[in-house]
Amino acid sequence: MKTGFLYDESYFWHDTGNGALFLPPGEWIEADEHGENPKSKRRVKNLLERSGFIKHLSVITPRQATREEIELNHTPSYVDKVKQLSNLTGGDAGELALVGRGSYEIALLSTGGAITSVDQVMEGKVHNIYALTRPPGHHAEKEQGMGFCLFNNVAIAANYAREKYGLKRIMILDWDVHHGNGTESAFYNDPDILFVSLHQEYNFPPDRGSAEDIGEGEGKGYNVNIPLPAGTGNAGYIYALETVVVPIADHFKPELIIVSAGQDASVFDPLAQMMVTADGFGMISSVVKHLAERHCDGRLVACHEGGYSPSYVPFCTLRIIESLSGLQSKVSQDPFSEAIRGLPSDVLANNQKEAVDKVSRIQTEYRKVT
Ligand code: ZN
Repeated sequence: MKTGFLYDESYFWHDTGNGALFLPPGEWIEADEHGENPKSKRRVKNLLERSGFIKHLSVITPRQATREEIELNHTPSYVDKVKQLSNLTGGDAGELALVGRGSYEIALLSTGGAITSVDQVMEGKVHNIYALTRPPGHHAEKEQGMGFCLFNNVAIAANYAREKYGLKRIMILDWDVHHGNGTESAFYNDPDILFVSLHQEYNFPPDRGSAEDIGEGEGKGYNVNIPLPAGTGNAGYIYALETVVVPIADHFKPELIIVSAGQDASVFDPLAQMMVTADGFGMISSVVKHLAERHCDGRLVACHEGGYSPSYVPFCTLRIIESLSGLQSKVSQDPFSEAIRGLPSDVLANNQKEAVDKVSRIQTEYRKVT
């Protein structure tokens, strides 16, 4: 069975307007392309086509999510707000949650992409799948959009999987460099959804993602935050996966793994300060793929989140899809490898190890007392 690749041309038409990184044009900010623009996403598809690798994948087209499905995670008044802004001139649906004309329908298609992907793996049509969803979703809270995210694709897909297929245990792994606050909020009291976030500490949102936030009520112990110091690269991420994520996942035994795949921990990202390389993303994906194979016949859905280097995100994402498929593309070497050869991506620094060990201690301590 093949690995799936889901996208729709509309994903590249969601219009975030002018800006500079995440700021709107202003007195001193010259209008330029907004940081969350289609380029890094479109170039993923382009590279898959140019390299011929897309021929090895099962290409899937999404359907739109229904309003009812969006309301699995969002309040009706918020959904109305996005729709109204989209029908008029666009605007902000929360905090930095940009809506352009027609973005509502594209956001329905983005969430629909996550839902279609769940159907594809649950019905055994693909082995696993990468969905190039845009707009992204993991910052979106129930009542407001945030951080370029309108509807929380992954949270809705998890609720959908639970309702439609009766799944009892779903793991959501969020490796986007920013904390997946919207997804955390959605399942903070929920023991059936294990949420794990690997992110750069104090980045965005700066007040979320602390290692001490382990869930509440029945959900206590099912929320795992792994805040990593700036400068963490491949070695730190692999250490975090092996030390914290894999043991907890092995204990939880997920029936489906959903990944919030943001490639903004990459060494060239303008919105973070991490050092993961394209090959590193391949290694990370390989660990997660093996988890899925060990526990749930390989059922794994990866949904695209952030990643703001149009030059590098395509290579990071290609390596992820290669790992999911178990195949290698003709792009045998990272074209940027010479430039990053001397960086300490593969070195586990003491402060990185300490950050991971702290999470491990908190989680172990909690599990000991319960
Ligand atoms: Zn991000």
